[in-house]
Amino acid sequence: MDSLQTRLLAAEHASAVEDLGGVPLAREVIAHAEAQGALDVEVRARLALAWTLLEEQPSEVQEQVRVATAQAEALGDPLLRAQAHCMAARVAVSQSDAPRILREAHQALRLAEVAGAAEPLVHAHSLMGIANLLVGDHGRALVHQEVVLKQLDQVHSPSLKAVLLCDVGANFNDFGTPHEAMIFLDQALALTAEHDLRFTQILVRENLGRTLIQLGRIEEGERLLQEGLKQAIDGHYDRWEAYLRCGLGEHLVMTGQVAAGHDHLLRATEVARGVEDSYLASTCASTLGRALRHLGRLDEARGHLEAGLKTAQDANLLGPCKIAHQELSELLAQQGKFEEALRHFQQFHDLAMKVQLEESHRHAQLMILQQELDRERERAEAQRQTHDELRRAHLMVQQQAQELTRIASEDPLTGLDNRRQFLTYLSDWMQSKAVFSVALLDADHFKSVNDRFGHPVGDQVLTRLGQIFRQHTRPEDVVARIGGEEFAILLAVTDPSVASDIADRIRMAVASHVWDDIVPDLRLTVSIGLAFSPEVSTQEALLSLGDARLYRAKQAGRDRVVQGER
Ligand code: GH3
Ligand code: MG
Ligand code: MG
Repeated sequence: MDSLQTRLLAAEHASAVEDLGGVPLAREVIAHAEAQGALDVEVRARLALAWTLLEEQPSEVQEQVRVATAQAEALGDPLLRAQAHCMAARVAVSQSDAPRILREAHQALRLAEVAGAAEPLVHAHSLMGIANLLVGDHGRALVHQEVVLKQLDQVHSPSLKAVLLCDVGANFNDFGTPHEAMIFLDQALALTAEHDLRFTQILVRENLGRTLIQLGRIEEGERLLQEGLKQAIDGHYDRWEAYLRCGLGEHLVMTGQVAAGHDHLLRATEVARGVEDSYLASTCASTLGRALRHLGRLDEARGHLEAGLKTAQDANLLGPCKIAHQELSELLAQQGKFEEALRHFQQFHDLAMKVQLEESHRHAQLMILQQELDRERERAEAQRQTHDELRRAHLMVQQQAQELTRIASEDPLTGLDNRRQFLTYLSDWMQSKAVFSVALLDADHFKSVNDRFGHPVGDQVLTRLGQIFRQHTRPEDVVARIGGEEFAILLAVTDPSVASDIADRIRMAVASHVWDDIVPDLRLTVSIGLAFSPEVSTQEALLSLGDARLYRAKQAGRDRVVQGER
């Protein structure tokens, strides 16, 4: 089990630094975890695998994510569930499926909040930004992006951080602000270089290259695209090779570097066919066709455009079909084949209408979905607030109850237990059948203290008496003020002679106390009645026995302890 954990961590690390060597390891961990029934390990390995294969093997990734999501749900682990939903949304990004991105990212966001996990939370915001941008809602996209930028330092996976920076850069490009895009893409590039993130580096170079070309820094841009392409070829990232060749080829043809551009486009078309990405294959073929048409190589162009059209038709891809028809109609017109040109134009026109209709339909759907999600979020937020308020109220009530208990059991002047509390303890002790002693203490001639020095001084003297009693007893003894100048001490000792010694020591401590700091020339004594619990059977009897002995102590001249007589 331990070594499985170790291998899982290694696979996760490989995934975070885009090391394809982690792929077989992750597969191995999945198989072992499955055999051992270690569900959490299995989910994590599947997620690591999915992240590594994200761009190259979308269909496998989709399957891994589907299984991981179900398993994470069975585990009820919000963090794993949030990560799985993020991954599902990422897959939807490569398919430009805005509603699915939004739905998955929204789920991820809620789960990440529950788990209190920053990484999936930031990731989900980035994904929601992308979804909103895909349908042209720049306002919302910006709101999500701001969250991403604010919390980016909480993302620790280098690969995820680089991807998020790249997202931000790509978004700024879409906003039409390439200068801002550059800043974040540069950061992303530095990060990919630092951690040798081979795949994300391709992604960043592609984005940065396009941005630079847009800014008129053509040579730098071309260089970056070429570098990205070389990396894609070296790393066997075929889809990205095709994608980069397609973009680069079109750019080269349009800027007059015809031969080189043509080669790229041709190669892109071949590679795209091999990766079973119809969208890419059709786009490459149409781009090649358009380039050739601009070069006047009309027959060749027609062949590629028709191939692109067929690929798009087979896969039922409206956008690429529309583009191919448009190109074909222009090409055929150029060739003077007006009837055929008109047929393609009509199809282009119909498709354009259809695409637009679909887009507005999708946009409307997305708006409705977005509103639903907003309402859901508001409800969740309101619920959270109510929950917080209830918790605060509960805490306050608890504190007030504690305070009330304290007030009800404490003597406010001396801070000792009051009569009520003393009786509670006494009753507990009686019930426990333990052996103990009770001393009842009364200050002698206390009235004269008040008469000579005033009531406030009397109060200070009473407080000091309480302190003296506490000093001469142990923590387990109960010291209480049970009346005006009357105190009671429950001595938790089993031996009556020990109790007697303590009582006498207390008496002497009071008699010898120097009161100068409160009032000069005061002398004070206490009388004490001491009763031993085995002498009687009830609490009341014990107290009245102590009281009777206290009375006797007063009668006998005060400043003494009386015990052991009825
Ligand atoms: P004895 O030796 O017989 O106990 O004489 P005594 O004066 O102590 O007894 P008595 O019961 O006649 O008087 C008790 C006095 O304690 C009366 C009252 O002024 C004073 N006293 C009671 N409670 C307080 C208090 O909270 N603060 C102050 N300063 N004095 C108090
Ligand atoms: Mg008294
Ligand atoms: Mg008194």
